[in-house]
Amino acid sequence: MKICTKCLIEKKVSEFHKDAQKSNGLASKCKDCAHIDRVKRYSNTKEKSIEYSKIWAINNPELTKKYQKDFIFRNPNFNKEQHAKNYKNNKQKVLDMNSLWQKNNRATCKARLAKYRATKKNATPLWANIEKIKDIYKLTVKLQMITGEIYEIDHIIPLQNDIVCGLHCEDNLQVITQKENRCKSNRINYGSYH
Ligand SMILES: [Zn+2]
Repeated sequence: MKICTKCLIEKKVSEFHKDAQKSNGLASKCKDCAHIDRVKRYSNTKEKSIEYSKIWAINNPELTKKYQKDFIFRNPNFNKEQHAKNYKNNKQKVLDMNSLWQKNNRATCKARLAKYRATKKNATPLWANIEKIKDIYKLTVKLQMITGEIYEIDHIIPLQNDIVCGLHCEDNLQVITQKENRCKSNRINYGSYH
């Protein structure tokens, strides 16, 4: 048995790492304490390097922009992966919140789903060119890779609207930035259609 110099608990010899420099061949701190020290050291260095990167980015805005673009170009799935990672880490929380909302809003959920399915199905005419539609979707991905900005598919005439209903076909689709899309939907909701 040996007493750890940090937690001062007497532990078995097997609870200590070997250390050839010590006379008894054992580290003075137990494995648990050594582990805690390692984690602390790691997080300190990590914090420092994040802090340093932030300062560097503020002082080098143009280069930062360029690096970000290059990075997105080389890792087109990064945002998707990041999103998936966040979801994975907070999965239970997200699921709990979703299911609570769904429980409290059962009728709304059912109505929404039915409406969305029917709209998309009814709004896709037989003559719609599925390949062309796919190409338009691919274009958003490409543009996002090149510019680093988020692009979305927009129905020029909205699918679900009180007065006019657009079609889910290539002629009614356009690629616009997420920013433009947000502005546009505001205009439709509160603008000339109402
Ligand atoms: Zn210890």
